[in-house]
Amino acid sequence: MPLMKSWIETANSADTDFPLNNLPYGSFQAEDGAPHCGVAIGDMILDVTALEAEGLLLVAEDEDELFAFGDWTEFMAMGPAVWASFREKLITLLSDGNGDAQELVPYLVPQAGTQMLMPFTVAEYTDFYAGKNHAMNVGTIMRGAENALPPNWLSIPIGYNGRASSVVVSGTDVRRPWGQLKGPNDDLPRFEPCKRFDLELEMGAIVGTASEGPVTVQEADDMIFGYVLLNDWSARDIQGWEYQPLGPFQAKATATSISPWIVTKPALEAFRTSTPERERELLPYLHEPKPMLYDIALEVGLAPEGKDETIIARTNYSVMYYSSAQQLAHHTTAGCPMNTGDLLGSGTISGPTKDSRGALLELSWAGQEPVALDTGDTRTFLEDGDRLTLRGAAQGDGYRIGFGDCTGTVLPALADPYAR
Ligand code: CA
Repeated sequence: MPLMKSWIETANSADTDFPLNNLPYGSFQAEDGAPHCGVAIGDMILDVTALEAEGLLLVAEDEDELFAFGDWTEFMAMGPAVWASFREKLITLLSDGNGDAQELVPYLVPQAGTQMLMPFTVAEYTDFYAGKNHAMNVGTIMRGAENALPPNWLSIPIGYNGRASSVVVSGTDVRRPWGQLKGPNDDLPRFEPCKRFDLELEMGAIVGTASEGPVTVQEADDMIFGYVLLNDWSARDIQGWEYQPLGPFQAKATATSISPWIVTKPALEAFRTSTPERERELLPYLHEPKPMLYDIALEVGLAPEGKDETIIARTNYSVMYYSSAQQLAHHTTAGCPMNTGDLLGSGTISGPTKDSRGALLELSWAGQEPVALDTGDTRTFLEDGDRLTLRGAAQGDGYRIGFGDCTGTVLPALADPYAR
């Protein structure tokens, strides 16, 4: 599909994340201080909440307060037919040739300087472990090359239940955690600030329609509303001590950042790609009836406080071994109902080469090989003041479908939280 032209000129640039082909959904702080729903178009935001209030953009004739609270969750629950007809309305409004375009100008807000907010209410958060390069690297670091890949890994999309309460929107600062940890050279555990604070480059899939009982991979794909970039902040020295036998717990409880814009499935449709060839036959319930991964180029930028950014990794979502649809289908097998607003982290996305690894744990090989930054600094793990930025985009012919930046800055640990 070629670039669809909009009457908003900045949406027609090959460099924007937000052409008319994209139309991602976000929430922002409006001039009156209230949260509003918005759609990104070029360098502007179309204020959906204000348009709905004026009766200019309704999901359905009897729905006129869907966006009143600046949250997309209720809309997400309405399902694929409503999602499609609403997108059609937006395309009509924003297309080049809309004779009533002038009427919409008062409802456009510049993205620059506008505070973005959580676009939906996270019901529950599950994080997976679906990148084979990542699993091999981490497994080798933690258990040695011979035991790197757990025996179930090629059969099960492995995951753990995280915390919805810790999910934050891009731009939120992240405080270095304290925790019970044991460094690689320590004999005994200690309670102190994390010294091995890390990022994880991931995609997040957002459940739109709810389910009860097991669903197929196709049904799971139909349930997914859209995707965000996701940074699963990780405390490696806490993780290394606590993770056996039940998996990560406090190591992943500090924060998980998501990009402010939910890119919907129709915007990504042209970029579907198959999961890599199976190294072990999957059980039938995990078979994909069609391509369900996406070709999305990804990068990680790290800027020390007050300094320029260095891109420390470049990779692509298409390297993942399991798609979000497979993960979601597996999630339901034992009867777990899935709800509108459930967030599924893909697992860290690492490519096969050293410069395509999506975590400092792998990039610095557990601290043994410091990563050189363009500023002359080096990093093994994150330092206070570091600003992390994830970016991602699917590249079309003369346009791209982007997610906007997913950023977070590391703040120093507080004083001992138990000193009274
Ligand atoms: Ca993770």
